[in-house]
Amino acid sequence: MRMTMTGAALAGLALAACQPAEQRKSGEPAPPNPTQTVAAPAEKPVYRFKIGALDAIALFDGQNPVPNDNKVFGVGLTPQAVAAPLTAAGQPADPIMLEIHPLLVRNGDRTMLFDTGLGGGEGQLMQSLRAAGVDPAAVTDVLISHGHPDHIGGLVANGRLAFPNAAIRMSQAEWASIRAKPEMADLVRIATPKVQAFQPGGEVAPGVTAQDTAGHTPGHVAYLIADGQNQLLYTGDLMHHWILSVEHPDWRVGYDDDQAAGEKARLDEVTALRNSGAHIYAYHFPFPGLGKIQTREGRAMFISEAQSTRSAAN
Ligand SMILES: [Zn+2]
Repeated sequence: MRMTMTGAALAGLALAACQPAEQRKSGEPAPPNPTQTVAAPAEKPVYRFKIGALDAIALFDGQNPVPNDNKVFGVGLTPQAVAAPLTAAGQPADPIMLEIHPLLVRNGDRTMLFDTGLGGGEGQLMQSLRAAGVDPAAVTDVLISHGHPDHIGGLVANGRLAFPNAAIRMSQAEWASIRAKPEMADLVRIATPKVQAFQPGGEVAPGVTAQDTAGHTPGHVAYLIADGQNQLLYTGDLMHHWILSVEHPDWRVGYDDDQAAGEKARLDEVTALRNSGAHIYAYHFPFPGLGKIQTREGRAMFISEAQSTRSAAN
């Protein structure tokens, strides 16, 4: 088996993780219905770490088992082709497991939440926030990577804003695309007074720069979170699966609104990350999705930098 998901110790000062005081326990076997988004058992569903001096918390929201049927991964390929790199890494090939974990970062008097999970009674974000001791009313900024349901579903709960005091930040292009969808009408009505849409490329909150990474959706952004030289790139849905998206960024993904544009954005990002060694937070990778992309044995691999998590122990 190739060496993947090593629990590599954090190197240098770029991303200094403190002890992972709270982790959730090992996941149970995949649920019987692979089309359902489900929540794994999460006794202590948070993972605390540092970005320089900033406190950060990975917040478990749920899991999304995706059938290996080429509707999402490897569009135009065969299930066997998609299974090959998974099997080679010792991972189950069907369903293909994605996880969901928003990120919370504190900077001075700001409490910033990156994406909001599934919401709608499915997502566990609120329980995770409670486990972390964070009051939803204390969140000052919600930063949205893009408008898909597993990222904005938790914005509204019971017809109200789930984070009532937070500015809701996203790119202008993404906000326009959400407003154009009739099924989003309720969310748009409730969220509109709090939305502050931005043009990517600059600072959108203290220490947070939005990068235009359109492709998966028309206004998708990644967020670079920095405390001086210490940086973490919140990648949103530039990549979905920690093996498939990294080893085969050129494979078409059914979740991309525009599959050709999504492919290009993913390919560009994986290439850049291979070269830069930047620390990333990947929303759908195994919890908590902290690590970097490196070239090992000639191919790109995600190397976990979380200390002693269920994922790293696999
Ligand atoms: Zn997503």
